[in-house]
Amino acid sequence: MTNPKSRWILHCDCNSFYASVELLEHPELCRQPVAVCGDPEGRHGIVLAKNEAAKKYGVRTAETIWQARRKCPDLVLLPPHRDRYRHFCNIINNIYLQYTDLVEPFSIDESWLDVTHSFHLFCEHPAQLADRLRRQVKETTGLTISVGVSFNKVFAKLGSDYKKPDATTLISLENYRQVVWPLPVDAMLYVGSSARQTLQRMGISTIGQLAGADPRLLESTLGKLGGELSRFARGEDAEPVRPFGSREPVKSVGNGQTFRRNLEGEADCRAALISLCDQVAARLRRSNLWAGGVQITIRDPDFRVITRQKQLEQSTHLARELFQAGWELLSRNWIFANPIRMLTVTALSITDEPFAVQQSFFEDAPKPDPRREKLEKSLDSIRQKYGSAAVTPASLVKNQLGLPTPKIQDRPEEEDEGFARPKGPL
Ligand SMILES: [Mg+2]
Repeated sequence: MTNPKSRWILHCDCNSFYASVELLEHPELCRQPVAVCGDPEGRHGIVLAKNEAAKKYGVRTAETIWQARRKCPDLVLLPPHRDRYRHFCNIINNIYLQYTDLVEPFSIDESWLDVTHSFHLFCEHPAQLADRLRRQVKETTGLTISVGVSFNKVFAKLGSDYKKPDATTLISLENYRQVVWPLPVDAMLYVGSSARQTLQRMGISTIGQLAGADPRLLESTLGKLGGELSRFARGEDAEPVRPFGSREPVKSVGNGQTFRRNLEGEADCRAALISLCDQVAARLRRSNLWAGGVQITIRDPDFRVITRQKQLEQSTHLARELFQAGWELLSRNWIFANPIRMLTVTALSITDEPFAVQQSFFEDAPKPDPRREKLEKSLDSIRQKYGSAAVTPASLVKNQLGLPTPKIQDRPEEEDEGFARPKGPL
């Protein structure tokens, strides 16, 4: 096996992908601030993507048109065309595949390429191959990409963010301390806002400080993630680039439970559904996936089964949105007085696209909730740190259904959007 530090990995990232694809159809708008929005006509649509000019006004993804227009009154709004994004995604990955079979898409507009054993067929240095890919993608599609060139996936990804649009950044064994270490910790993949805050409290704000910190201390504070981040900061990410198409497409993510006693009545059903949606949403977030639909399966004590499903207006990985859809299905299709032996929640139409909007729903206003997103992600990191029972929906405290509950049985004091926090190390 190749020494992990002698690999050559490229991370290729399309610049402002959705907006750039839309602008191919509207070259006259290139210099104007442009946003792709779920519902350009209505006030409540949200920004799905924006071009460089709009970024300069501070327009952000997932904010409402109303918020974006306050910062940039001349913002031009265009509707999204998912078929076109898929089309260009295929063309671009096929270009990458001309240079190596190790092409691993990370999202619709980003892929890693391992060119360790193939770059020399095309040029003298992998950075020259990166330049060649940029030219070829631009000539073929009119779109620009940024490429990070490094000896591991995490640094290659950081390199493609380092300079854009249309740039190559080399992060080598020789220069990574000068290039990477002065950067803030959250420039690195897998450092979310809660890990950043925890590290900040430990006096760690740069990747260099992270690399120099005691790995055991990081692990005791951040759990398994701490150890991983420590290795990544020191350039010790040995994760392979998977061959194209080898990632098993995840078709659904589901959690089901047979309860300690049958569910009876609305309160039982609600508690069970909250718990299951919570688990499914956490699994989606861990895999960086979003659900476009929800299915519930109900089994009664006589083992009769009913299954009902519903498409969502836009993809989600939030428990609350899965619950809303699940609750609608349950309350429409079940008489609460009838007992339920087993309930399963399955996330369907799995995608790696956040805010993927259903074609038929463009007129309706999709409303992602950045606050909710932040809350649920911070719950993930609390659970990672203190165990899955550390934070539990209030309705599950002291339940007799066998649902996961906090170990500490004190009455919850603090409530945050329906979640009770037990007294404890928090
Ligand atoms: Mg991109």
